[in-house]
Amino acid sequence: MDLRRLSGGLLALLGLYGGAAAQPRAQQAISLSVDLTDAPRKIIHATETIPVAPGALTLVYPKWIPGEHGPTGPIDDMAGFIVTALGPDGKSCATDSDSTIHWQRDKLEMYAFHLTVPEGCATLTARIDFLATAAPMGFSAGASTSENLAMLSWNTVVVYPATMEPASLMVTPTVTMPSAWQYATALGPAAEAVDQLCQNPAPCPRNLSFPAVSLATLIDSPLLAGKYFKEIPLAPEITPKHFLDIAADGPEDLDLPPARVENFSRLVREAGALFGSRHYQQYRFLVTLSDSVAHFGLEHHESSDDRMPSRAFTDDTQFVLNGDLLPHEFTHSWNGKYRRPAGLGASDYQKPMEDDLLWVYEGLTQYLGDVLAARSGLWTPEQYRGMLALKAATLDNWPGRTWRDLQDTATMAQVLYETPDEGWDNWRRGTDFYREGELLWLDVDTSLRKLSGGKKSLQDFFVSFYGPAGVSAPSVRPYTFDDIVAALNAVAPNDWATFLRQRLDSTQPHAPLGGIENGGYKLSYVSQPNPWSEMVDQQTATVDLWFSIGLHVNSGGTLTDVLKGGVADKAGLAPEMRLVAVNGRSFTPALLREAVHDAEGDGPPIELIVENTDYYKVLRLDYHGGERYPVLDRDAGTPDRLDDILKPLAATR
Ligand SMILES: [Zn+2]
Repeated sequence: MDLRRLSGGLLALLGLYGGAAAQPRAQQAISLSVDLTDAPRKIIHATETIPVAPGALTLVYPKWIPGEHGPTGPIDDMAGFIVTALGPDGKSCATDSDSTIHWQRDKLEMYAFHLTVPEGCATLTARIDFLATAAPMGFSAGASTSENLAMLSWNTVVVYPATMEPASLMVTPTVTMPSAWQYATALGPAAEAVDQLCQNPAPCPRNLSFPAVSLATLIDSPLLAGKYFKEIPLAPEITPKHFLDIAADGPEDLDLPPARVENFSRLVREAGALFGSRHYQQYRFLVTLSDSVAHFGLEHHESSDDRMPSRAFTDDTQFVLNGDLLPHEFTHSWNGKYRRPAGLGASDYQKPMEDDLLWVYEGLTQYLGDVLAARSGLWTPEQYRGMLALKAATLDNWPGRTWRDLQDTATMAQVLYETPDEGWDNWRRGTDFYREGELLWLDVDTSLRKLSGGKKSLQDFFVSFYGPAGVSAPSVRPYTFDDIVAALNAVAPNDWATFLRQRLDSTQPHAPLGGIENGGYKLSYVSQPNPWSEMVDQQTATVDLWFSIGLHVNSGGTLTDVLKGGVADKAGLAPEMRLVAVNGRSFTPALLREAVHDAEGDGPPIELIVENTDYYKVLRLDYHGGERYPVLDRDAGTPDRLDDILKPLAATR
């Protein structure tokens, strides 16, 4: 499907929909009242008042959500959409006795509603209920509430006239929430009052009134609220101000040690030292620590929506494994929000996105987020290298790269985000522009250092590309591929266009490891998992034998993925099959690892009993290479540029 043609169809339809188009009266703001008191019961109520003039009007629900790079607006969970109209005197103006205006959904664009505002009407009131019943998976359309918290993404509860620009359409937001809840949002502090209609002695909900902002700013400023809530100022010596705002499942989840708070303060300092600029007036990490919500991060100019498991700040392993989330989303304030690919530049939620430069938007952010995690002490250099070894080795054993190039993973991102990362995913390739983008930008960084004899690095690119230096309000500066090439050439002249295109358009079976090698390391394999891999296996309850027999198996014996062209594939194994027995004994993860170990050299082949959709068979793996796990080995013949990259830049306090 050509999404641009769909958009053209919508525009044509809007033009054909008859009559003079009704325009909202621009001088008046839309008012949007959101009621979170039923959020624990997974329903969010909204009432919107839109100033209008009589005539045909099309209202739209945000479809293409910034940062999600796809048409992910959760319109399937929009319910109770009832529109009524009133005259300038506040009295009924519609022909129906109940003032209800009939709307009709566009036949091609499900996010558009056509209606006619009757003569004599001056405002529309639209009621929307958002059903927060989605499973805890995916992005902001996934689960967002629990008994004691809610993350409000304003795009889920708003419609607006299709002809209006979200950047100039003003909205006055108000929120009603349970009395015991606290909140944080980049919208700033609200005027607050107790609900006048509340009957004592029940605890009365709180009404929050925020100043009018553009619809674009509103949607860029989600609101986190909850009962178990903590706000921690970060790096207080720095202006603009930064805050860690946490809503959690329980009070015990808020108890993060001071050393971890200091890691996040260091992150704020390191990002300032890295970019030399800040394009926000405040920054809030809006962190949800909950086992009941979707786990992901979504960037905004002045905040980020960071959702992690309940123990992510208090459990040692989870703290490390989630250590890249806040650095990644924070980096996006510069790379993604302020500087943005031209195809993603407009704050138009109905216009299809062009994702072809996501290897910069996400790939460079992945590189920088991980480097910042190390510079902030969230990761040790050893942990960073363990992470990088696992990513590089995985991409180096990923046959999908022989037919789908890195560029296509970005171009097709809006579809690939929806695909699972298991079940022959190594042959499909998913959103590899994150991790392979990371290798690519490490390659650029170390090449700049090598070309300039250590005098230049990506740091010089950042200072110019994300400048001017100092502090400024949020804005968007779009860029193209040629702008990236020009900015790199300004740091160190080179044929950067060819350098990048070779890596983007390659269908070579092996991953681009130039950054690791120029960084002074070599990817190699040993017989014991590196501590990072062990941590990942423990957390995901899987066994990673990808680099030996070519499979991932969970603790119950089910194969989550099989390496296409690997030993297990050739023996007849496939994803979703279940290992019942290994060499005649009931499957355990330890037994399988032991069998791979014992088969090394002239050991016996591994005999497996497997179940596939209720049928059983015996398969033999004639593999004698032993256990293999990736590590980065120091190459003494090359300067240790990677170690330099991981060193903190900010002055130690
Ligand atoms: Zn990202």
